[in-house]
Amino acid sequence: MSTNDQLHRYLFENVAVRGQLVNVTETWREIVENHDYVEPVKTLLGELLVATSLLTATLKFDGDITVQLQGDGPLTLAVINGNNRQELRGVARVQEDAEIAPGSSLKEMVGNGYLVITISPEKGERYQGVVGLEADTLAGCLEDYFMRSEQLPTRLFIRTSDKGAAGILLQVLPAQESNLDDFNHLATLTETVKGEELIELPATDVLWRLYHQEEATVFDPTPVSFKCTCSRERCGEVLSTLPVEEVNEILEEDGEIDMNCDYCNSHYVFDAVDIAALRNAPTNNSDQVH
Ligand SMILES: [Zn+2]
Repeated sequence: MSTNDQLHRYLFENVAVRGQLVNVTETWREIVENHDYVEPVKTLLGELLVATSLLTATLKFDGDITVQLQGDGPLTLAVINGNNRQELRGVARVQEDAEIAPGSSLKEMVGNGYLVITISPEKGERYQGVVGLEADTLAGCLEDYFMRSEQLPTRLFIRTSDKGAAGILLQVLPAQESNLDDFNHLATLTETVKGEELIELPATDVLWRLYHQEEATVFDPTPVSFKCTCSRERCGEVLSTLPVEEVNEILEEDGEIDMNCDYCNSHYVFDAVDIAALRNAPTNNSDQVH
């Protein structure tokens, strides 16, 4: 399957600023296709996906980042999880019977809420950062996060349309003599990018249009894809942690236990024999997908 979902990193020659441009159109389609999200929720998931991809691209180690919006509004949760291989997945939950009107803003959907960013290295300590939703847009909230957590001037430009989703991150390089005027100049140039350009044109064309008067090096792109990390083995591990009586009760009533992954809609079915096997050998399951 051909896809345009790619992340391009670039560096400016004479200014200590780096950039990343990502297109996540196909990945976004795969994340929303098995759910009946209303339009504003779909759009927000697209923005969150662009943001998470750009954030994971700043990782200097193997690991993953989860970017989560939660609050007391009709949209109780929106979350995207991505790793340094640019494999991403995500899900949103809306309160039952809640109305989300077309064109609803971030605040109208999330209410009083937070943006929670969890960085989990494969080796090492997990880090969590929380910022209130003070800015009106997701990009604004993330810029606040970068100022507080890394003290690095950072700008995010996120564009979505019915054709796709894409974005750019500009960041001052850490530990280098940097000139804020130069950074602001590049940000002003980047701000002019139109949604249709960023989403529909090849990345190299967009970068040329934006920065042809600057000296910049563009690196080979990294593919971006939808990938869920759920598995029969993980579901089995969750089942083993549930109280035995509770599991038996469901087995008696339904004859099987059907576990559904919210992210990708995969079903993992366990019958009495499977459950007995889990209880006898809780640690060494083969990772079989039916
Ligand atoms: Zn899954």
